[in-house]
Amino acid sequence: MVSSLAATPPPAAPAPDFEHELEQTVRTLLRLVRGADPAAASGDQARRLVDLFARAERAAASGIALFSPVVVETGSYAKAGHGSAADWLGTVSGSSAAVAKSRLAAAGRAAADPALTGALHAADLSAPQLKLVSETAAVAEGASGTLLDLSGQGASHQELADAAARLRAAARSRQSEHARRARVHQCRHLRSHQRPEGGIGGAFLCDEVAWARIAPRLEAEARRRWKAAGQKEPLDAHRLDAFLELLAGGSGPGGSGGTARPHMVVIVNAEALRRGSVQGGELCEIEGIGPVSVEAASELVGEGGLQFLVRDGIDIRTVTGTTRTLPQRMAAALMVRDRTCAVEGCGKRHGLEVDHCRVDFADGGPTCLDNLARLCPEHHDLKTYGGWRLEGGPGRWRWIAPAHPKSAGYIARARKLAAAKAKATTIRRE
Ligand SMILES: [Zn+2]
Repeated sequence: MVSSLAATPPPAAPAPDFEHELEQTVRTLLRLVRGADPAAASGDQARRLVDLFARAERAAASGIALFSPVVVETGSYAKAGHGSAADWLGTVSGSSAAVAKSRLAAAGRAAADPALTGALHAADLSAPQLKLVSETAAVAEGASGTLLDLSGQGASHQELADAAARLRAAARSRQSEHARRARVHQCRHLRSHQRPEGGIGGAFLCDEVAWARIAPRLEAEARRRWKAAGQKEPLDAHRLDAFLELLAGGSGPGGSGGTARPHMVVIVNAEALRRGSVQGGELCEIEGIGPVSVEAASELVGEGGLQFLVRDGIDIRTVTGTTRTLPQRMAAALMVRDRTCAVEGCGKRHGLEVDHCRVDFADGGPTCLDNLARLCPEHHDLKTYGGWRLEGGPGRWRWIAPAHPKSAGYIARARKLAAAKAKATTIRRE
C-alpha cells in the first residue's frame, strides 16, 4: 500500500496520515510566520510571499468548506461545548457567528454540487468566491460551471459578481421579478444616525429604476468635482459632496470645468427586448448600476438624457437618444463591447477611460473601434506611464508586462509630471 502511494489518487476519506501531515504543515506555517521579518524583505520578495500566503489561505478555506459539513451532520461541534455549528466555526475561525453561518451554508451547498466539490479539491476558491458561486448556483441552474470556468480563467471577484448577477437575472421569471421589485419597494428606506466616533452614517435601499433616474447626475457631478480637485481624494468622498450639493439645490454640473451632460445608458439585447425577458448571455442592464428586468428598463423609456443601446451579438443595432455625432456613436459601441476594463481579471466597470490601445493618440493613432479599448484609470496609468501593453482584441485581450515593470510610486510620479507638462503647455499657448 505504502509503496504504491505515489501512483494512487488521494484517499477519499482522510486517513490518520492525512491529519498528521496537515498538522505538520500547519506547524511549519506557524513557525515561518512567527519568525518572519518583513523589514528584511524587498518589495518584490514581499509580493511573492503574499502570493504564497494567499494560496495557502485559499487552500485552507477549501479544506474548511470540505470538512465542515461533516461536523454539522454529525453534530460533533457539541462535543467541543458549542451550542451550534455556527458558534463553533465562528470561534475556531475568529469570525462572527453570522459570517460562520453563511460560510457553513455555502459549504453545505458545495457538498451537494459535484462541480463545486471539484473546485474545492482544486483548492482554488476563496471563501467569498465559494459563497458567491454556491448562492448563484442555488437560484440559477448550471451557474456553478459557468462561474468556475470564469474563476479558472483568472476572473476577478468583481467579474465573478457581475457574471453571477447576470445569471441570476436570466434565471428569474417575470413573476419572480415582480416579487423581487415588490420586496425592494416594501423594504425601501433611508436611515441615518450619528456615529459614536463622530459624523453621520447611513444606509438606503431603493428600486434600480428609481436610482437610475438620479445616479447619472450624481455620478457626473462627483466626477467633475474629483477631476477639478486633481483626483487626490477618493471619488467616494466627492460623490458625497455632490450628493449634499445636489440636495441643497446647488448649481450642479456646468460650473467651472463642467463636463459632458449626465445621461443614463441602458444596454439591452434585441432578442431580450422582443421576448420581454433575458436569457443566457443576453444583457439588460443599466450602465453603472447592474442588471434589471426588461420591464424595469422599459419604464425608463422617455426619460430625459436616456440612451437605449440595443445590442445584437456584440454589435449595436440601434442607438436611441442624443447620438448624432460619430464620436458619440463610437463611444456607445465601445460601451457595449467593453462592459468592463479590458485587462483580464480586472472587471472594474466604473469610471472607465477610453484608451488608444494599438497606436497611441499622440503618435497619430486613429480614433476607430479597432484602436480603442476601455480601461479603468489604474490600468490606463500602468499602460500610459508604466510600459504595460494591451494586445489581442475584444474578448481576447492580453495584458503584457514590460521587461522591467515599474513600482506604483514611479507611475504616480510619471503621471504627475505629465499633468504638470500638459498644464505648462496650456499656459504657454495662452
Ligand atoms: Zn482595470
